Amino acid sequence: MKKLSAIVSDFDDTLFFNKKALIYAAKELYESLIKDENINQDYKLLNDLEITIGEGKVAKGFNKKWKNKLYTLAYVKYGEELSPNEPLINYLNEGVKNGSELIILSARGEEFRKETEGLLNAHNLNYNSVILPKDHELKDEEWKLLEIKKLSNQYNNISLFEDKEENIRYILNNLDVKNLRCYLVNHSIITEM
Ligand SMILES: [Mg+2]
Repeated sequence: MKKLSAIVSDFDDTLFFNKKALIYAAKELYESLIKDENINQDYKLLNDLEITIGEGKVAKGFNKKWKNKLYTLAYVKYGEELSPNEPLINYLNEGVKNGSELIILSARGEEFRKETEGLLNAHNLNYNSVILPKDHELKDEEWKLLEIKKLSNQYNNISLFEDKEENIRYILNNLDVKNLRCYLVNHSIITEM
């Protein structure tokens, strides 16, 4: 039998804001790379890092080899710079009180499970499980789509909370399930799509 309902939430920039940590990480990586003669000619990489330093987000098509290094710095070394989205956390915990199961769905990757669960626990999120990809072979939105498809077979209703509009659009355009509602999160503003 299917369970009643699940709240599925993204992690970064939905439940926790990671801009500051990403900026610190990008600065550190940038400074180490410009000293390296083999790499300081990679203008695309340096330019992408400048984008992260300026905007606190990772550019599309960011160098795969350096992506993990950047995220490791951000999530592990500068992990304490992540700040909670308190209104959303309270809202989702309220949903749990009312009988939903809270599932965290993040493309961060298994390599960051410890840090991810550590923050969730420190901020008293009453989650049921944390789903992370074992590798990064699929694009984030493709991986999320497959996971939501699986969840839609386990739950009667799913509410998805996510900060990336393009991820929600991709899921809505490619997944034909009736029991899914998607909400775009922008800090404390939640909009159904
Ligand atoms: Mg996100």
